[in-house]
Amino acid sequence: MRTFEQISTLRTYLRAVRQERKTVGFVPTMGALHAGHLSLVQRAKSDCDVVVASIFVNPTQFGPKEDFAKYPRDTSRDMQMTANAGVDALFLPPVEEMYPSNFQTWVEVEKMGESLEGAVRPGHLKGVATVVTKLFNIVQPDIAYFGQKDYQQFLVVERLARDLNLPLTIQMVPTFRETDGLAMSSRNAYLSEAERTAATLLSRLLALAGSRVQEGVHSASQLHKELTAVVAAEPLATLDYIALVHPDTLQPVEDLGAGVTLVALAIRIGNTRLIDNALIAPEGVSLPRPRVSRGV
Ligand code: AMP
Repeated sequence: MRTFEQISTLRTYLRAVRQERKTVGFVPTMGALHAGHLSLVQRAKSDCDVVVASIFVNPTQFGPKEDFAKYPRDTSRDMQMTANAGVDALFLPPVEEMYPSNFQTWVEVEKMGESLEGAVRPGHLKGVATVVTKLFNIVQPDIAYFGQKDYQQFLVVERLARDLNLPLTIQMVPTFRETDGLAMSSRNAYLSEAERTAATLLSRLLALAGSRVQEGVHSASQLHKELTAVVAAEPLATLDYIALVHPDTLQPVEDLGAGVTLVALAIRIGNTRLIDNALIAPEGVSLPRPRVSRGV
């Protein structure tokens, strides 16, 4: 595996790759890697000739009171994991490489970035959209891979790629889970043993939502009430939001019988904020395959 800290040397490497007419898959991450990240790498390897991953804890997507300083960082372990997973090139830029002094240009996706995470974490999705656009311009991948776990992030990236005419395909990869259902996340490392047990709350809520709609509960406000009561019964949990929204627009839905709905959750377990989501559908309606958006 080749590693690069500078944009210029990565570009030189990628120029040679493209001259050989090889396709490039790209997996952007913030490091502290786990099996969820590696599932994106696996998918990229099966689709593309060369796989580039990046590890960059992007300061601009953290709010002033968020965990940028204490976000888990373990570069040597991450390098071993990516090398073992067959990543060809790992991009590890220092902050000054991505944000030199006098940086002043931002990418902001309006409507898609305003609800859910955008409403609770002001500036977060603008930071994500900006760094992803920069990384796309640096790597110029054929296909970029993002996890369903950050569903709204996927829609924001899909939107900006279309709106800015970026010539790449954006592929969603299903959420990779622990055996008890907890979605893998770098932030799971913050959980105490008791919190780790309580954290299965999120996947239990998603499973409950899926079975309730199959059983014929088609009122979103009814289902919301039921899910909220389950959260209230868990002493270590504080609810940020439970959203029942359209999977393309993220606009609230009321009739769950009308088609596929996205259930998106943000819940604090102790001091750790966890998110998760799932698509649910009434009986007779099948769930879609993972989303893919082809460049135009
Ligand atoms: P992060 O390092 O948290 O910024 O995540 C980097 C990429 O990995 C994003 O596209 C995430 O959606 C994806 N990802 C994180 N956790 C998981 C998971 N459990 N399953 C699938 N993808 C994930």
